[in-house]
Amino acid sequence: MSALLVEATRIAREFDYPAEQVRRGVAEYIRQADEGLAKENTTLSQIPTFVTAVPNGTEKGLYLAVDLGGTNFRVCSVQLHGDTTFSLTQSKIMIPRELMASGTSKDLFTFLARQIESFLRIHHNDHFEAHQRRRANNAAVEDLFDLGFTFSFPVRQFGINSGTLIRWTKGFNIPDAVGHDVCALLQSAIDDLNLPVRVAALVNDTVGTLMARSYTSPGKTGTLLGGIFGTGTNGAYLEKIEKITKLDSMKDVHYDKSTGEMIINAEWGSFDNQLSVLPDTIYDRQLDEESNNPGIQMFEKRVSGMFLGEILRRALLALHNDPQIGLFKPSETSKWGLDTSLLSLVEEDTAKHYPAVKAALKDHLKIENPSDEECEAVKILVHAIGKRAARLSAVPIAAVLIHTGKLQTDELVDVGVDGSLVEFYPNFEGYIRDALREVTEVGPAGEKKIRIGISKDGSGVGAALIALVASKDETLQNPQQKEGK
Ligand code: ADP
Ligand code: MG
Repeated sequence: MSALLVEATRIAREFDYPAEQVRRGVAEYIRQADEGLAKENTTLSQIPTFVTAVPNGTEKGLYLAVDLGGTNFRVCSVQLHGDTTFSLTQSKIMIPRELMASGTSKDLFTFLARQIESFLRIHHNDHFEAHQRRRANNAAVEDLFDLGFTFSFPVRQFGINSGTLIRWTKGFNIPDAVGHDVCALLQSAIDDLNLPVRVAALVNDTVGTLMARSYTSPGKTGTLLGGIFGTGTNGAYLEKIEKITKLDSMKDVHYDKSTGEMIINAEWGSFDNQLSVLPDTIYDRQLDEESNNPGIQMFEKRVSGMFLGEILRRALLALHNDPQIGLFKPSETSKWGLDTSLLSLVEEDTAKHYPAVKAALKDHLKIENPSDEECEAVKILVHAIGKRAARLSAVPIAAVLIHTGKLQTDELVDVGVDGSLVEFYPNFEGYIRDALREVTEVGPAGEKKIRIGISKDGSGVGAALIALVASKDETLQNPQQKEGK
């Protein structure tokens, strides 16, 4: 073997994540998960979402969902047919820059309410006009649309439809909103326009993924766990309320206790920030040091799409910088710019002379005519980095299955996943399953009981389903009651 391939193989081995380390990772995840349920400020945040049930596919009705993420505001209505299927109508609007940073919160939320109004006029005009007539006649207000509000910024939640903004991220900066209840801000803008809408739920996108899968999965079994493996990674699962002991010491919270269960948003991207069990190569260390949040999101930095391309670029650079080897030079300008889709393309290509690898290297790194051997070296590294990410992904999944005791019955356990990495990286699920079998408490018998399915559109149908669960919650703050009508 050539020096290049010998060295590539040596580096690849640094990314090995053997069975015994998977098992240690799972044990430590369970420990950190328990700690997160008991107190605040732990590595695994284990955030109570106040969503106290998952759907089983028989739910019916028409619900609204809105999603304020980075650049767009999405409004949609979801008709749940009650047979695991749904129809979704949506519109997407770019948020004007000036509303993101220079105006007041009233400007922003009025803009959002106006978008909801025009959506209703276009797609649900009958309902809308009937409501306006009743309002004009001072008749009782009824038939409100329940709305799920996906708000992808840090919030401190107090109930299923209340939560205060901790800080803005992603280019937003509207100081007067910080510390205020974002559901109340949206509701008040909606009420100013007399819209037949009740903000029923504040939604986290990972929780939405779990809900969407639980509704759409075959049969009537509910889903236990939803995981995202895209730009970032995170998961949400159904927990027994009695185990969420920190709820007892949380002030001013209100939720429906009748089901005995609540969805927990694990925020597992920050699992093991202290690096007690996570693998840590020189490439992981360099990446972390040069990131804008060193020491934070350490699990995510080894698993998710935002980082795998950069880990690869650093490993390639090591091969390039070794004078004995002299791999082509991966461009410096591509720092943080090597898209993880490159890894999928490379992993997929098994053809002679690697045509797809060559095309991808040209597209992504401006490398002209790499040799077959260089392509093989790239493949060796990609395979190692991708496989480690998938095996690491098995850690929270196995831990949740064990911690919740769900493998102890004969029933299958449903897991919903979303994100380009799990969807497109070749055999990502297969590597997850290999690692799951290696965990003693799961084993081959447990692994067979796990059904993993893609769950799309957590912020659409998922948010609508959370609004539905919320509408059955008697502790919900009802705007009409508040107005005393
Ligand atoms: P989001 O996380 O914004 O919901 P995605 O689930 O599409 O969006 O994830 C985007 C991330 O996935 C990016 O980091 C991107 O580099 C990576 N990605 C996109 N396409 C692929 C692919 N084919 N294979 C692996 N990773 C991909
Ligand atoms: Mg996504």
